[in-house]
Amino acid sequence: MANRKKTVKVRIVKSKLRRERALGVYYPKLKLIKIDSRLTPKHYLSILVHELLHYVYPHLTETAVKQGAPKIAQQIWNEQYRRLG
Ligand SMILES: [Zn+2]
Repeated sequence: MANRKKTVKVRIVKSKLRRERALGVYYPKLKLIKIDSRLTPKHYLSILVHELLHYVYPHLTETAVKQGAPKIAQQIWNEQYRRLG
């Protein structure tokens, strides 16, 4: 058998979030991130980083995620990374 590491992936779905009453949500058991499809590219990036931090560091507090995500998103944005579609 091939000696490949099994990587856990998170699925990202863009949709109009209404019931969720949030711009982004991470469902740990489903390994699923939902992000509101109506966000501007920059806001989308910020929410994406926020939800990915929940995924990568499940024990991080909401406060820590809220402090870290905008800084990471701003740095990525400053490096001129943009959505293509
Ligand atoms: Zn959060």
